[in-house]
Amino acid sequence: MSTPGGTMAAWRLTAYGAPVSLQEVPVPVPAEGEVLLEVTAVGLCHSDVHLLDSPEPMAFDVPFTLGHEVAGTVVAAPGDPALVGRAVVVHGVWACGTCDRCRSGRTNYCTGRGRAVGGGIGRDGGLARYAVVPVGSVVDATGLAPEVAAPLTDGGLTSYHAVATAADRLPASGGRVVVIGVGGLGHLAVQVLRATTAAQVLATDTHPPALDLATRSGAHVVGTPDDLRAELAPHGGADAVLDFVGADATIALGVDLLGPGGDLVVVGSGGGSLDFRKGALPQGVRVSAPFWGTAEELAAVVALARAGHLVPEVEVIGFDDVPAAYERLRRGGVLGRLVVDPRHTGPPAGSSVTTRGQGGR
Ligand code: NAD
Ligand code: ZN
Repeated sequence: MSTPGGTMAAWRLTAYGAPVSLQEVPVPVPAEGEVLLEVTAVGLCHSDVHLLDSPEPMAFDVPFTLGHEVAGTVVAAPGDPALVGRAVVVHGVWACGTCDRCRSGRTNYCTGRGRAVGGGIGRDGGLARYAVVPVGSVVDATGLAPEVAAPLTDGGLTSYHAVATAADRLPASGGRVVVIGVGGLGHLAVQVLRATTAAQVLATDTHPPALDLATRSGAHVVGTPDDLRAELAPHGGADAVLDFVGADATIALGVDLLGPGGDLVVVGSGGGSLDFRKGALPQGVRVSAPFWGTAEELAAVVALARAGHLVPEVEVIGFDDVPAAYERLRRGGVLGRLVVDPRHTGPPAGSSVTTRGQGGR
């Protein structure tokens, strides 16, 4: 395979608060320790919208190419030519590998990586035809369709890590876990809970079609906050609440639904706050704000998808539709994940949707 050169179009964050911008940039050249990918699918995450809309400069220097949920095919690998041609997904936290956190296996909490997280968050990401990534960030995704593989890297991985965070609080009998916000992440969290725990899964969302998605994803109880409250009351509350919104209202709902000794896991970056007065919280509550996950966890997520336990609900859109897609995410009402195929440009060719089969679990 010959290495591409010249320039390519890339959707970039050029200034905080400015619209996503299409710019012509050089096709990147991989150094030793890096690989060049032809991007085959990129998921659009609500975090992109938080980045774009941030009123004040975040910690990441601009400009950079957005897109941190990346699937691709290796087209050049200077240090490891055997990788060329392989279908991969990219672990998004480009960790240093040498700090204490990295050495204890917690690479998502690396203290040595500097300000940027990785491609699409402070470094050039996948919303372009090609991307350069560290060779250590690629995880084999052979056999998965790109539009299925891409959302595994954040939607799937962050959900998996959040579930793992709460796992030690679940009783041997399974317990009860609430998922608030059944969007790009939340619907995969429901599936991860079903695949890796014996918990009863309860889910709520303000967008009615997302409740159907929760049911299709395997949730046992789906409904309004009041429905969940009624279901949990005889059991003294939930063992864990996974909040994929993180707004004032959902954090308060999470506290309200938790039982004593429960776990409040706030994943969403909705800017909400929690009154941490003792007495105002369930006894023994543990609150955490997990961030993404490790490359090893991503490999486990890929394995769950290969085994049919994780089926992202996706809508595939063309490269030209990125600004409209971010607007849809901003407004609300997207079902599952919007995934861009950077190889497809021009007017929308009609979207395609992957839905998990009815009655599959
Ligand atoms: P999304 O827009 O796809 O899904 C959000 C879902 O929450 C939607 O279904 C929406 O209808 C629902 N919702 C909104 N307000 C609600 C409310 N008050 N009550 C109940 N449901 C409500 O977003 P996403 O891509 O799944 O991301 C979810 C959040 O997680 C975002 O804030 C994102 O920035 C954050 N995130 C965090 C991490 C991390 O590592 N901690 C990683 C990725 C994303
Ligand atoms: Zn590190």
